[in-house]
Amino acid sequence: MTRIKANMITTAPQQHMTLGSIRVTYLPDGSALFNPTFLYPATTLADWQPYRHLLNQDGQILASVGAYSIQTSDHTILVDAGYGPSQIAIEGNALLQGGELLVSLQNAGLTPADIGLVFFTHLHPDHVRGISRQVDGEQGLLFPNARFLVRRPEWLRFANPDESRFGVEDALKLLEPRIELIDEGNELLVPEITVLATPGHETGHASLLISVGEQRAILLGDIFHNNVQVEHPDWASCYDHDPDLAKRTRQYILEELAKPATIGIASHFANAVFGRVTFVQGKYQWQVLQ
Ligand SMILES: [Zn+2]
Repeated sequence: MTRIKANMITTAPQQHMTLGSIRVTYLPDGSALFNPTFLYPATTLADWQPYRHLLNQDGQILASVGAYSIQTSDHTILVDAGYGPSQIAIEGNALLQGGELLVSLQNAGLTPADIGLVFFTHLHPDHVRGISRQVDGEQGLLFPNARFLVRRPEWLRFANPDESRFGVEDALKLLEPRIELIDEGNELLVPEITVLATPGHETGHASLLISVGEQRAILLGDIFHNNVQVEHPDWASCYDHDPDLAKRTRQYILEELAKPATIGIASHFANAVFGRVTFVQGKYQWQVLQ
């Protein structure tokens, strides 16, 4: 008889969904591990007792790290670019590693040259460092044919050397001659994809709304880091730049996600990044898309 382990927490596998003729594919790049009370500094271990099932066997939060391709009939868009081939540890509290994006692209039948546009939800290292590659000891852009877009306030914040930039300076330098700024409400190449302002985690954090007929998908970026926040939108992550604004954004976006025919795409969730939010007995809950 096989026994099923209580906490089968894994990173999200490569997976895709379609809305009409638009195909969204999750492209794994790596993973991150966090002590729960480090990632959510206002929580105690007692707060986590009811959520043991969301932690791995060591009592850690396992987060997926990755990017997405969005393929329309005429365009191939990459959303975020992962952390790239390296790792970083914060002793005893966090471990982040990347480097699988190229293989994931290949598994999706894509090469970096196929990417016509890279859109960044925000400019944190696990979303932007993956744009670069080493050629003859020099850093260059991995996507030779791509335009690069980010929301205006996000670029302005990260272009300011007085702001904390989490070690993304090299990536910013590569982007500087190429970056194009986009505003809230703008279309991203096709009328079905629109830029949403979802600030808080970062000043210019953005999400993408994909609408096809009655069907909607919201590519959330880092509004949430773990699905515990669907039930507790007030739990701010230590990486939220403006925790109060991030909480208000989570609350607002939960109302949107709970509307009919709406799929949420949450890049750091373990096990699966595609899901739906229900509102039952006064509580929001995340359900993995079957
Ligand atoms: Zn992130």
